[in-house]
Amino acid sequence: MNQATTKKPRLAVAPREQAELAHHVDVNMPAAYQPRLLHLSGEMVEGADLFITSRSVIDLKEPAEPNVMPHRHEVSQTYLLLSPDNSLECEFDIDGEHFTARAPATVFVPAGALHAPRILRGTGTVVSVIRASHQAASK
Ligand SMILES: [Zn+2]
Repeated sequence: MNQATTKKPRLAVAPREQAELAHHVDVNMPAAYQPRLLHLSGEMVEGADLFITSRSVIDLKEPAEPNVMPHRHEVSQTYLLLSPDNSLECEFDIDGEHFTARAPATVFVPAGALHAPRILRGTGTVVSVIRASHQAASK
């Protein structure tokens, strides 16, 4: 093995739990909710200009209380809905447009749009990708 394969990669990181996040209220979370994970930030990888988090649910039967407050930021955001059995459903409110998306789906939130997602039911993972900014990175 050469040295390049054995040393810790600079650009690959493992996710870590992110207990708190701006605009999120994590109270009365159903047991189906798995811990929120932080996958990428400028603190984790130098120069990273994306802030990526995820939340998985396992066999969520009914929606929890809304735990993401409506908010907006000056950068766009994208949600990826991934589900091993396509059972994951989320509702979104984006600038007054209310809809339900079922995995697999990608939901784009334009910069400045007021938005609030909520997981409704199913099994899967919601990945949030947001361009890093002082708002996104701060809590
Ligand atoms: Zn947002």
